[in-house]
Amino acid sequence: MSANPKVVEAATHKFDMVINGKLTPGAATLDVINPATGKVLMTCARANQAQVEEAIAAAKAAFPAWSKKTWDERRQLLTKIVDVFATRIDEFAKLSTQESGKPLPLAIREMKGAVASLRNYAQLDLPVETLKASEAGRIIKVRAPLGVVAAITAWNYPITLLVNKMPPALLAGNTIVVKPAPTTPLTTLLFGVLCNEILPPGVMNVVVDNNDLGHVLTQHPDVAKVAFTGSTATGKKVMASAADTVKRVTLELGGNDPAIVMQDADVERIAPKILQGALVNAGQVCLAIKRVYVHESQYDLMCDELAKLAKQIVVGDGLDKTTQMGPLQNKMQFEKVKEFLEDAKANGKIIAGGNAIQRDGYFIEPTVVRDLPDHARLVREEQFGPIIPVLKYTDINDAIKRANDTSYGLGATVWGKNVERASEVAMQLEAGTIWVNKHLDLPPEVPFGGAKQSGLGVEKGLKGLEEFTQARIINIGV
Ligand code: NAD
Repeated sequence: MSANPKVVEAATHKFDMVINGKLTPGAATLDVINPATGKVLMTCARANQAQVEEAIAAAKAAFPAWSKKTWDERRQLLTKIVDVFATRIDEFAKLSTQESGKPLPLAIREMKGAVASLRNYAQLDLPVETLKASEAGRIIKVRAPLGVVAAITAWNYPITLLVNKMPPALLAGNTIVVKPAPTTPLTTLLFGVLCNEILPPGVMNVVVDNNDLGHVLTQHPDVAKVAFTGSTATGKKVMASAADTVKRVTLELGGNDPAIVMQDADVERIAPKILQGALVNAGQVCLAIKRVYVHESQYDLMCDELAKLAKQIVVGDGLDKTTQMGPLQNKMQFEKVKEFLEDAKANGKIIAGGNAIQRDGYFIEPTVVRDLPDHARLVREEQFGPIIPVLKYTDINDAIKRANDTSYGLGATVWGKNVERASEVAMQLEAGTIWVNKHLDLPPEVPFGGAKQSGLGVEKGLKGLEEFTQARIINIGV
């Protein structure tokens, strides 16, 4: 708990929203379910349309003063936020496990990553650039804030997704309205309360809906940019509704990431890494490995290794110390993944798991499927759950073609002893991030974004910061 009494009081304030610097009860309430029990964990505030509009108006009113602060003043406030947040990692992680289901060590990693990301943003600058200088004058490029930013996030990593958006938005001089996913609003509300103790009123507002008010943000004429993370289907709606006012959009969307295992790969060494890459957070990671292509000479061995390892995974409540994999985050996703299981059973061979676990909450066995045809749902669509299809290839060019045969393009991995050859294959994969012999290495200074229908624009790093600004060219004569 923080030493700051105001924060302690606010943190116990039944998870109210933050609008114009005030802790604001919702026009309605929302029950948040603990996915490990299927029971209500907490009841929080839920906005109506007028409250979302109030939050936008507050952000708009706060913009002139906030954007006029110096870069260093804003940097100092962000640094204060991260300093306080860093002392409360355990509290945030425990709440995250309870609302999202992820094992506590993974939640702690999420919070530590968020600290690193906040700190990285807090030390960035966007100095004036001179593009041309001559006797005839000079041309410079300055970066101005956009105005009010709407940050809309998904339920799998609420704090990670928030700190990819809020720090660069605020540092650049924008104000913000944050809307988390309705099944995991609590950590975001708590973070909003923490920031509210440090920021001027209206600079950061947090509202909660029940998947029914996102359009109010994306259509509103006073919102200049939408920074969105979620599914490709919703991302398309966001883009369409932003078109009318030509809003800036950053879209971080779904993925169906292939892993290509080269013929020379050491299967026993890499199988644990591939399984971890597929089942991290019960497969609910945009960049999780979602299809594995293995050369025919190693196919049976890889299937056997993955199945053996999957059967050893301890599934349970994320707060239980022995748990390695938690539940699916919400009932809708649980039902969807069960449909994938049925399709996999009908079209392929299940070699580990294959069932929902008969207990309260939304648990699915870690599942490995082999011998699926390329047209199976599990190969074509994003499963976002703990089921991994293993597919056979004969010719590497065919594997590359099949890996690229998707409208998604978020991430990909290539695994092999000959790093040069594996890297050549990596260059041919149509994705935003491609790893060779590693996975999910995402340093805060490196930009990240999707190719094809996995996204638009980038987050993180200097490029991610620039996305919250408008470049202005000033062409000065003598
Ligand atoms: P979702 O698209 O259902 O919801 C995402 C957010 O959009 C939520 O806050 C939701 O309330 C809001 N929303 C719903 N309808 C809206 C509308 N019409 N206008 C504006 N906002 C609206 O996604 P989800 O199920 O919460 O998340 C899972 C998806 O997110 C997966 O596809 C996953 O791959 C993707 N994801 C991508 C990344 C990335 O960085 N690329 C990261 C995490 C998750």
